[in-house]
Amino acid sequence: MDERIDPDACIFCQIVAREAPAHRVFEDEQTLVFMDIFPVTEGHTLLIPKSHCTNLLDARPHELEAVVAHSQRIAHAIRRVIAPDGIGVFQLNGAAAGQTVFHYHMHLIPRMRGEPLALHGRRLGDPERLAETARALAAALEPGAHAALRATRDTR
Ligand code: AMP
Ligand code: ZN
Repeated sequence: MDERIDPDACIFCQIVAREAPAHRVFEDEQTLVFMDIFPVTEGHTLLIPKSHCTNLLDARPHELEAVVAHSQRIAHAIRRVIAPDGIGVFQLNGAAAGQTVFHYHMHLIPRMRGEPLALHGRRLGDPERLAETARALAAALEPGAHAALRATRDTR
């Protein structure tokens, strides 16, 4: 469970530094939220601390707290925008647990009743669709917002 990588070679650190592209939903000093590029479902979102850590075991507690607090706001935005039957919160630690990017991250995955459970998407998301969903989620972060992007769910 100790798959440490050089932050210079970390794709999520590159996204934080804007050296790699991402469909951003929200950021503040400590936390960045963006769309998973291989979405399991429409609205699949990742939350990360901006400073590099590998997984739950070496993440700094105040950064974990920030991710969890933001996950509640993002979950409300997902509910407003996607209107799923449920939202899965997943966080994998170590390759043996299925972790593939070794910078701590939390997945928020909208779930519909009856769909098979999956943790990783198989297809690259359509960039325009990801951008549209990111914009809709960002707009829905405002209290009382009711952005409607009732999904056509064509990214699965
Ligand atoms: P995990 O298996 O929990 O480590 O999940 C890593 C997630 O990061 C997967 O769901 C990938 O689809 C996603 N991912 C990998 N590279 C990128 C990227 N450049 N932008 C957005 N999501 C990514
Ligand atoms: Zn990193």
